[in-house]
Amino acid sequence: MSGGGGAPEALALALSPLLQPLRLLSRAGLARVAVLREIEPLVQRVVEQARPYAGDLEAGLDRLQETARGFDSAPEAGRRTAIAALVRELSGLLEVPADIAALGRDESTATPKPISNTTPTSNTTSNTTPTSNTTSNTTSNTTPTSTRTSSRASPSRPPARRAAIAAAAQKAGLTPDPLLTPVDQLRGVGPAIRDKLRGKGLETVQDLLLNLPRRYEDRRKRRTVAEAPLGERSVIAGSVAWIDEVRARRGRRLEVRLRDDEGGYLMLLWFHYRPSLVQRLRTGARIVVSGEVRAGWRGGGKTMSHPDVEPLEAGGGDALPFDPASDDSFGRVVPVYTELEGVPARTYRRIARRAVDEYARHLADVLPRGVLERRELWPLAEAVREAHFPDRSAEVAAAAQRPAGEPHRRMAFEELFMVQLGLALRRRGVKVEPGIAFRATEEAIERIVKSLPWPLTRAQRRSVGAIAQDMRKPEPMNRLLQGDVGSGKTAVALCAALLAVEDGYQAALMAPTEILAEQHTRSLRRLLLHRRDVHVELVTGSLGARERAHAERLVRGGAAHIVVGTHALAEEDTDFHKLGLAVIDEQHRFGVMTRASLMKKGARPDVLVMTATPIPRTLALTLYGDLDVSVLDELPPGRTPIATRVYRDAQRDRAYDLVRRELKAGRQAYVVLPLVEESEKLADLKAATKERDRLAVEVFPDVPIGLVHGRQSAQERNDAMDRFLRGEDRILVATTVIEVGVDVPNATVMLVEHAERFGLSQLHQLRGRVGRGAAKSHCLLLTGTSGAEWGPAARERLKVMEETTDGFRIAEADLELRGPGEFLGTRQSGMPDFAVAELTRDQAILQEAREEAFALVQSDPDLRKPENEALRDAFHNRWRGRLSLARVG
Ligand code: ADP
Ligand code: MG
Repeated sequence: MSGGGGAPEALALALSPLLQPLRLLSRAGLARVAVLREIEPLVQRVVEQARPYAGDLEAGLDRLQETARGFDSAPEAGRRTAIAALVRELSGLLEVPADIAALGRDESTATPKPISNTTPTSNTTSNTTPTSNTTSNTTSNTTPTSTRTSSRASPSRPPARRAAIAAAAQKAGLTPDPLLTPVDQLRGVGPAIRDKLRGKGLETVQDLLLNLPRRYEDRRKRRTVAEAPLGERSVIAGSVAWIDEVRARRGRRLEVRLRDDEGGYLMLLWFHYRPSLVQRLRTGARIVVSGEVRAGWRGGGKTMSHPDVEPLEAGGGDALPFDPASDDSFGRVVPVYTELEGVPARTYRRIARRAVDEYARHLADVLPRGVLERRELWPLAEAVREAHFPDRSAEVAAAAQRPAGEPHRRMAFEELFMVQLGLALRRRGVKVEPGIAFRATEEAIERIVKSLPWPLTRAQRRSVGAIAQDMRKPEPMNRLLQGDVGSGKTAVALCAALLAVEDGYQAALMAPTEILAEQHTRSLRRLLLHRRDVHVELVTGSLGARERAHAERLVRGGAAHIVVGTHALAEEDTDFHKLGLAVIDEQHRFGVMTRASLMKKGARPDVLVMTATPIPRTLALTLYGDLDVSVLDELPPGRTPIATRVYRDAQRDRAYDLVRRELKAGRQAYVVLPLVEESEKLADLKAATKERDRLAVEVFPDVPIGLVHGRQSAQERNDAMDRFLRGEDRILVATTVIEVGVDVPNATVMLVEHAERFGLSQLHQLRGRVGRGAAKSHCLLLTGTSGAEWGPAARERLKVMEETTDGFRIAEADLELRGPGEFLGTRQSGMPDFAVAELTRDQAILQEAREEAFALVQSDPDLRKPENEALRDAFHNRWRGRLSLARVG
């Protein structure tokens, strides 16, 4: 029935949402045509979505669209004729199930058919293809179009309930979304498995479809033990020759000897396992195992640790499991899902297969047609199908052993596109509303720059220029200033702040920690020593009530020109007199909400975001994609290189020798301890105090040692910092509260305890505290004492520190090693959680998605065009909840 050309299957998929109301109607009878609602917009939308797949059937789509014109306001007779025409047009484009096709053939079918599951199965429908049967058989009820479904599905569900559901849906004018079909409507899913799936949040077939495999295994070829190469994954079949549970000093171990058909032996090992596994592995059982084959154990032979095991069908020989039609666990590239307690891998695979076969086609493409075409993206349904069971993409999946190739690209694209769309819309929202047009004259810039103690670097000048240009525009500035530690961002921020102050506005500088806010205040005041007319005020949570009230009065009255603070600035009781510029340092620690609430304090102030953690470009685009960017890619002159070395605990004395040498030369040193959890601040205090005392007694007896930690009041901390800055204390013991912002040029040594517990970017920040003066500096990374803390991952990280001081390289490495969530310190980072996209490897996809999203917002700023309607709905739904399309399980 379907015409050729294009991609008929994809087209049928795209058009399939139209079958739902028609199916309802065919059950209820044409006389009920009045209950159908919103048919015209539905047809419009579905047809637009289907266009990319139309091939040479475009004219058919046009006609289809035409049939629904005016439907929703038409009288009943008109509606009937329209439905008949619609069904006929639809029949030319895909195979329409017989019950629906009847609507097109006979316009006089006016008698309502009873809603029941007794509708006879017509033999003429036995040739229906997978695209045209199923779904609603399982979703709602009735009209079995294939004997297979009718004989199995009907008895399991009470007709009364199904009829009631269908009737209710119909009454509401709703067409049930097949994707929301409960999992237990799938054949083979009983109450027990349903409950287990539910326990993992898998309630509907849609959940199953979007629960993607973690990786793939190429089980297309079986190997004998002799053939299996070492260090590679292989699939090997055989029988259990011998099984033994061994009691070892550190718990139990399960050893199984597998004998393959050529008499080769493979040792299977489990170091943790469930009792049920032992039961499945009785002597003589025929099994197939899959896993990495390793070299001999106990002198010779091959082993496999923690293999996947599946039974070979008893008596059926080996042929059955290798028949792809009957089983998806062997003989193909097999998906491996996150294990589900109580649901064997093989069973889950069967369930996933059923969901994919019967429902994947209902996954609609919300991306605009133009995007799908230009970027040559697969239909979502196809991508999801292939992601579960790679056929077309089998080679790619087998080679990558994890989601890759076109299916991955399609899904990652959608996730990234949605985020970029959000950013594009947000940026547009900012740009269209009027802000402040500062004067920011060249003359003023010149004057301000001249007043600084040193000439700006070229990078600083460029950034100040770009910022001034933004400030002159009547729309709010939204700029990111990115620069490595020590690149001089504070000076740039100060120039911008002074430009605002010159026009009678206030500037706010928001820092992520109190100590950094205090440090900023100190350095700004120092830079502004000779400018008595500019008042810098500090507002933080740890100010006493009276001080705080005083500071806030100055801010409210306008006497404070530059206001420095923590997130307290964004809180409600801080009112500005006339906020014109908000500078946000280390923005990724705040998240979007704080930024937004700060912006509300002024009449749409200009915003400058500074980040000292060099953020890899991919992340920057995702987090700050709505910002313009300036980069300080140059350090102020006179910096000296920092030598970095990792010391094991046993080499501690050598590290202390180096510190002693520097102290003797008149320098100062930091000793940094890992920060403990917020809830353990007391322990933090203890650890820091204890270490200070230990150093004072055992290591550096005659050296004055200061202490800063998270339990001090602002005043205590300030005093400690001042003593160190003045050189009265020669060593400063600190928790990572000094991570950012401390500026003591005479300090040339940074000794970090338990360096393996720090993230790379954090270490880079810490290291940036030295090397600020003319003398050569050192960063000494001490590692913990126990082996567990000193794993290969930590070793890898610390090696990066020894090798480079390039902040961007370090950030990339950090991102790669830890993933974006941890890289940014999880939650509050504002970082969307992707299920499919991987920022480190999907940069090209990100770039494409970004271009398309920004272009789309340019051409349709409110997503009002009809062809973008599906996208708009999806965007609103997803932007509110998780942005990710799928999950990986
Ligand atoms: P960042 O915040 O980017 O880490 P800072 O603004 O703290 O860097 O600057 C680091 C140090 O460099 C400070 O001591 C600052 O006074 C100094 N500095 C900034 N700009 C210059 C410059 N153009 N020439 C010389 N020193 C500079
Ligand atoms: Mg700084």
